[in-house]
Amino acid sequence: MKHLNVIFLGPPGSGKGTQAQKLSSQGFIHISTGDLLRREATAASHKGQAILQIMRQGGLVPDHLIFELIDDVMIRHCGAPLVFDGFPRTLNQAAWLSSFRVDVACIFKISDAEALGRLGRRVMGLDGAIYDTERLPPPPGVQYLRRADDAYAIHIERLQQYREREAELCSFYARKGLLRTVDASQSCDRVAKQIETLLKLAGSLAEKKSARLAESP
Ligand code: AMP
Repeated sequence: MKHLNVIFLGPPGSGKGTQAQKLSSQGFIHISTGDLLRREATAASHKGQAILQIMRQGGLVPDHLIFELIDDVMIRHCGAPLVFDGFPRTLNQAAWLSSFRVDVACIFKISDAEALGRLGRRVMGLDGAIYDTERLPPPPGVQYLRRADDAYAIHIERLQQYREREAELCSFYARKGLLRTVDASQSCDRVAKQIETLLKLAGSLAEKKSARLAESP
């Protein structure tokens, strides 16, 4: 089957990271701008410290820094199926990505209350695995920590930043006919099933499209 490039849009706490990790075990390259930034923020450089400061306050890192980071990863993984998690977050970022083939943009729908509940219970294994202290607790003996920006006031700020831009990002991809809705309030396995179905459909559409292109004179 033709390889797909997928975008996951949705509020913090909607499960984008968990589902992107699942896709990475199926051969997708998981591109999480949050992870790239967290790595960059460990540097003692001026840039690293500036990024850390913004992330700690739940703000958005300037687009030019995001482009630098993401460009580098996309070049390294050129030709592989990609899943973008947490990118694009602004219309400018979506426009920047539009020279690249995107096959489907999944919007993870979830209420603020449910997202806040999940964020409050989220912990991360040292290997990056995401756990929910109630529904998917880390196995005994596994070391875990809470993200530096996992605090209630920052969750509220991040949700607000997201909701301010959600409609315009969705319209951007809806106009291109690429937007698909995922009911992210369901269990992790059910959400994974929804995504599998959406990707199968997107895959066969992409195949039909390239067959038509190959036939046209
Ligand atoms: P995430 O891991 O996706 O929840 O992102 C954590 C934080 O990284 C966000 O709250 C932002 O401060 C920053 N961030 C992640 N992705 C982006 C992006 N595409 N544009 C701007 N800032 C971002």
